[in-house]
Amino acid sequence: MAKKEPILILKNVNKVYKGGNTAISNINLTIQKGDFICLIGTSGSGKTTTMRTINRMIEPTNGEIIYKGQNIRKVDPVKLRKKIGYVIQNIGLIPHMNIYENVTIVPKLLKWSEEKKRAKAKELIKLVELPEEFLDRYPSELSGGQQQRIGVIRALAADQDLILMDEPFGALDPITREGLQELVKNLQENLGKTIIFVTHDMDEALKLSTKIVVMDEGKVIQVGSPQELLRNPANDFVKKLIGEERLLQARADVTTADQIITTRLTGGLLQGYKPYV
Ligand code: ADP
Ligand code: MG
Repeated sequence: MAKKEPILILKNVNKVYKGGNTAISNINLTIQKGDFICLIGTSGSGKTTTMRTINRMIEPTNGEIIYKGQNIRKVDPVKLRKKIGYVIQNIGLIPHMNIYENVTIVPKLLKWSEEKKRAKAKELIKLVELPEEFLDRYPSELSGGQQQRIGVIRALAADQDLILMDEPFGALDPITREGLQELVKNLQENLGKTIIFVTHDMDEALKLSTKIVVMDEGKVIQVGSPQELLRNPANDFVKKLIGEERLLQARADVTTADQIITTRLTGGLLQGYKPYV
């Protein structure tokens, strides 16, 4: 099988602020199309900085970022941002624009026809199960969860393949949050989007990710699937972030799976054999 071309590559990306404060150092990441990447770490670990270097809201001090085969330093930042969706917590919708205008900001900049914009807005609002009439409302006339749904579809409106999401659901109640997590996961799977999602919530990361990137003090500590992290946390920091309870549960699940396989293979001859005890 031919090797897939990664959609995004970060090579030795650093950001040092004036005064010598290193926000991120030597970030190396390879992201495949259709990946759901969660950047997770404590506050100040460099998640937002890493994410913002990808759409050039922050210029790295050194290192290279390749998006769809092109060094982004050679792409006009405004043009780049039209190709990469961006969703942030709370701030998002422009209060004096109605929902239709909010959703079609980028398509308008791209000079889409009124007809094409209207069709896209209708398609997207259906996708997040809100009534079409909401397109005429203003953000203040929607609940927090509904506003954030609009924030999500706005990031999809110009058919961007890559979407950056910086703690998008942090301020929402658990039920609204769960609904939005499912929505975003479905969008990623059904529309083949690539998502880079910042969170400090391990449950959210384990639920959504194809790959989790653990960060601490500006560095990448571990990259792996949820299962890999649960089975082989790289160090105590990762263990702590995952939590003892989840690690114990994961170990119990592995033991059970192995027991089932052993029982099947031996026709029950080794009943009671516990490989991990
Ligand atoms: P996170 O999103 O993981 O909470 P950030 O990427 O926002 O972390 O910040 C990483 C580090 O960079 C922190 O130590 C923060 O104080 C520092 N930092 C962020 N922005 C600036 C800035 N404009 N000037 C100086 N230091 C900054
Ligand atoms: Mg942040």
